[in-house]
Amino acid sequence: MISQGITILGSTGSIGESTLKVLALHPDRYHVVALSAHSNIARLAAQCQQHQARYAVISDKAMAAELRAALHALNCTAEVLAGRDALSAVACLDETDAVMAAIVGAAGLEPTLHAAQNGKRLLLANKESMVIAGELFRKAAAEHGTTIIPVDSEHNALFQVLPENFNRGLAQVGVEQLILTASGGPFLHTERSALKDITPAQACNHPNWDMGRKISVDSATLMNKGLEIIEARWLFNARPEQIAVIIHPQSIVHSMVAYRDGSVLAQLGMPDMRTPIAHALAWPRRIEAGVARLNLADMQKLEFYQPDLERFPGLGLAFHVLEAGGNAPVTFNAANECAVEAFLHNRIGFLQIPSVVSTAMDSCKQGKIGSLDEVLEYDRLTREVTGRIIDSLV
Ligand code: NAD
Ligand code: MG
Repeated sequence: MISQGITILGSTGSIGESTLKVLALHPDRYHVVALSAHSNIARLAAQCQQHQARYAVISDKAMAAELRAALHALNCTAEVLAGRDALSAVACLDETDAVMAAIVGAAGLEPTLHAAQNGKRLLLANKESMVIAGELFRKAAAEHGTTIIPVDSEHNALFQVLPENFNRGLAQVGVEQLILTASGGPFLHTERSALKDITPAQACNHPNWDMGRKISVDSATLMNKGLEIIEARWLFNARPEQIAVIIHPQSIVHSMVAYRDGSVLAQLGMPDMRTPIAHALAWPRRIEAGVARLNLADMQKLEFYQPDLERFPGLGLAFHVLEAGGNAPVTFNAANECAVEAFLHNRIGFLQIPSVVSTAMDSCKQGKIGSLDEVLEYDRLTREVTGRIIDSLV
C-alpha cells in the first residue's frame, strides 16, 4: 500500500483534531505532510510532534520564532513556515496527495482554491469557501480533474447516496430533490420572545454536535443550513428548486436524495464527524473511523418537521440568496461572519444576527463574480459595510 500524504489546513480546530484521530488509526495508509493553526502554537507543536509532520504553518509571521521554540522544546524537527502564502504552498506541495480544508470562514478560501487548482484531492469542510466561490471551484475541478469530496455531514451524506455520475446533471440521473436535514440547533423549541436574550455560551452548546464556535452559532440561527443549501448548489450543480431542508432533531439521518421513481435514499450514522472524515479520506474505499455504531433499536424516535422560517429568518434569506446568485452568496457569508463575531463579543444580540445580515444585503450593491479577486473585493466591501451597520447598533 502506498502511503498518502495529508495536509490539514486548520488542524487545531474541531475538524482538524477529528481528522488527526482518524489518521492515527491508519499509520500505514496515511502520513501527515503539513499542519496549520491561526494562533494556538502549543497545540500545533504538540500535533506536529505526535503526528511527525514535515511542516508546521502559522498564519502570523511574527509568531514563527515562538513556534520554532515550541517545536524545539518537543524535539520535533518539523520545518516552520509562516504567513498566508505558506498555507497555499503546503496545500500544493508534491508530497501532498490530499488536503483537508478545515479553516473556518472565508479565510480558508485561497489555500483551498489553490489546492483544487493543483488537482489535489480536496476534502472540503470549509463550507464558506464553496459558498462564496462555488463557480471557481467547479471550474478548477473541471480543468484540473480535481476530486472534491464534501466533509460537511449533510453533503457527505448526499455524495454517498447520489450515483457516481451525478455531474452529468441531477435530472439526467433521475434525481428530483436533495433534502438536507437540519438538527434545528439548541433553540428549536424556544419561543421567539426568549431568543433575544440568548448568550454566546448558550448558542455554542449544541445538543448533538461538538463544533467550533462560529459554526455552533450558525447552527443556532440556522444560518448554517442557509450556507449549506448554497454549498449544495455548487457541489452538486443543483438548481434552487432541487434543494429542500427538513428539520430532524436527532441528527441520525444526515441527508436524503429523492429520485424520480419515488425512492428516497438516505445516509444514517451517529452524529460524529469522524464518519464523513473517514469516508472522504478513503473514498471509494471504507476504513475504520473509530465511531460508536448506530443501533436504531436504541433510538426512541426519529422526528422530521418543516423548518420555521419566521423564527429563523436567516434560512429564508439564504433561499433568496440561492435564487439571486452572482455576488449575493459572498455578501451573505461575509455579513454573517461579521455578525457572528460581534455576537460572540457581546456587541449585538442573537436576534440581531439575521437582521444585520439582511440590512447588509440591502446595502451592498449586486454584481457578478468572475475571478478570485472579485470574490475577495466583494468580501472586503461587505465587511466594511457590515462593520458600520454593527457600529450603529452598539
Ligand atoms: P474551529 O474554529 O474549531 O477551527 C478552525 C481552524 O481554522 C483552527 O485550526 C484555526 O486555527 C484555523 N483558523 C481560524 N481562523 C483562521 C484564519 N484567519 N487563517 C488561518 N487559519 C484560521 O472550526 P471547526 O468547527 O473545525 O470548523 C472548520 C470548518 O469546517 C468550518 O468551515 C465549518 O463550517 C466546517 N464544518 C465543521 C463541522 C464541525 O463539526 N466542527 C461540521 C461541518 C463543517
Ligand atoms: Mg453540516
